[in-house]
Amino acid sequence: MTELPVNIRESTRVLRALLLGYWLGASALLTILFGAVDLVERHREVLHDADHLRDLVAASLFPPMRSDDRQLLLETYANSPREDKLDGMNFLLVVNDAGKIVYSSRRAWRGLPITDPLLARVETSDPDFDAVVHCFLRNPGQCMDLSSTNLRLRTGSFTVVRSVVRPGRDLGLERQELLVVINYDPGVVLSEFGHDIALGFLFCLVISGLLTLLVWFMLIYRLLPQVAEAAHTDSLTRLINRGLFMDQAKDLLAEAEDRGGEMVFAILDIDHFKRINDTYGHSCGDAALAHVAEVFRMVTRPDDLVCRFGGEEFALLFNGQRESVGRALDRLRLQLEMTQLSYAGHQLKLNASIGAVSTADCGYNIDYLYNMADKALYVAKRSGRNRLEWNDGRVFSRLGL
Ligand code: GH3
Ligand code: MG
Ligand code: MG
Repeated sequence: MTELPVNIRESTRVLRALLLGYWLGASALLTILFGAVDLVERHREVLHDADHLRDLVAASLFPPMRSDDRQLLLETYANSPREDKLDGMNFLLVVNDAGKIVYSSRRAWRGLPITDPLLARVETSDPDFDAVVHCFLRNPGQCMDLSSTNLRLRTGSFTVVRSVVRPGRDLGLERQELLVVINYDPGVVLSEFGHDIALGFLFCLVISGLLTLLVWFMLIYRLLPQVAEAAHTDSLTRLINRGLFMDQAKDLLAEAEDRGGEMVFAILDIDHFKRINDTYGHSCGDAALAHVAEVFRMVTRPDDLVCRFGGEEFALLFNGQRESVGRALDRLRLQLEMTQLSYAGHQLKLNASIGAVSTADCGYNIDYLYNMADKALYVAKRSGRNRLEWNDGRVFSRLGL
């Protein structure tokens, strides 16, 4: 992985916290969604079960089934464990238009009015059941149209009501209007809900965790290195900028100091650069800066540190002794002089002045080295430009620079 600069590495802490929040938040949201879908599915099952029972009652109304057999059918259905039956049914009542229970899953209730206090005692906390009872108490004529399809989670029980009209008049049989009242225990209907939610949450943690890891790796291996590179590259010359140069120079100088190696720090400044801007325009000046960077790339080695220090000034840090690096710097200066820049039909000749300083003379502190090299550059400019000048830390102090 590309080594990320310290400031960007530190910002990954914020990213880690954000991604952790994203992971848990996404898992929670997905679980809520999953829970909502699960509830809808359970509600659908309740309605499906109620429809099934309504159909069963309707089918049993055809003669020649005897009344007792119908009662037995419902009892058997209610009390037998069947695969197509929803768990959690408390009781089933089939009520006629006078409010009398004609069949019931509880045999003892057969023949009782639905308004009987016995039933009210059994069912007190269920508003849907209470509504049916109140309807038969107040306005029995209109109760055959009652219909309720609620899935109540917070009450002790909930009731689903469906009406049955069988057989049709066209069969020439006596028409019967009945109300099928089914009471469920939400605790049983939803017994698996908590378990499903826990499993769903684990599943969502794994899925969104994988997604979060993917995002994390994309950030660390793709996006942040690109951001780091963009943040530390001078867009005009494609050289590293001053900030990264100073960081890397400090590390290299500390290493050289540890092993007692010699390094040379130099500042190169293009001579009379302002004239180029003034004569040919700012974009020609830009092209000249890019051209200088190109010459650097041609002449320097990969382990030489080169940056655009600012404006038309470049900083260089070389490994090696003053004599050999001095020759390399002079080669660089000459190469710049020889390589002309073609711009809009003009051939431009660029010169540069260089101020250089060796760690053997001035130590390993980058700020001090810069200071000393800058003084050497000043002397190079004063001495006629297009030259390399050294500061050994003694001559210039005698000159008062
Ligand atoms: P000297 O030989 O003494 O160094 O003279 P000079 O003209 O090179 O130096 P001076 O400091 O007088 O002017 C530097 C000019 O460089 C002024 C500034 O407008 C120009 N400059 C700085 N950065 C850029 C840049 O990114 N693009 C262009 N085109 N010009 C730049
Ligand atoms: Mg200049
Ligand atoms: Mg300058």
